[in-house]
Amino acid sequence: MTQETIGILALQGNVAEHGYVLDQLGVPHRKVRLPRDLEGLSGLILPGGESTTMSKLMVFNELEDPLREALRGGLPAYGTCAGMILLADEVLDTRPDAVSLGAIDITVRRNAFGRQVDSFETDLDIPQLAIGGDQPPVHAAFIRAPWVERVGDDVEVLARVPESAGETAGTVVGVRQGSAMVTSFHPESTGETRLHEFFLRELVGI
Ligand code: GLN
Repeated sequence: MTQETIGILALQGNVAEHGYVLDQLGVPHRKVRLPRDLEGLSGLILPGGESTTMSKLMVFNELEDPLREALRGGLPAYGTCAGMILLADEVLDTRPDAVSLGAIDITVRRNAFGRQVDSFETDLDIPQLAIGGDQPPVHAAFIRAPWVERVGDDVEVLARVPESAGETAGTVVGVRQGSAMVTSFHPESTGETRLHEFFLRELVGI
């Protein structure tokens, strides 16, 4: 088993769910609340939850600048939903004082798919996940989810809303740039491990 440790930003949100996925994959993990928790990590997961609450706690814990530095230094990061909002370069429809870590060249619109009652699930094709043959689609849960409204030149699209979803069809909901990846949906809450496996294999390199 690998000795590499993955951090999970543990200020608020789906911390336990990500920990459960990493347990299933046999990867050691640690909660990140304070700057010192970043030491020696091989990667970091930023969970879903509520991005403005996480922003406030990040500032309160003086974690914002050390985290931005670590990301700039190449710490691999995977953000789901609120985590996607935190990692983006630019965020629309958020509070003016919300933290943007600027790890990925995208513009994200917060709560873009509507309110909590507009939450939905759908199947996504993610060709980059298929290793050695056809794999079933990813069953994805969107909970007050953001979408990606602008994708920078060096950003690779991983997932779009399928045609069957109606008016939001084609919307970008998963991207990767260098050592950062983000998804609007929550693989950690639907028993899906392939996004985490992709992150560990392609971005962290374990
Ligand atoms: N709407 C939330 C936010 O603004 C994100 C939703 C989620 O993470 N499930 O942070």
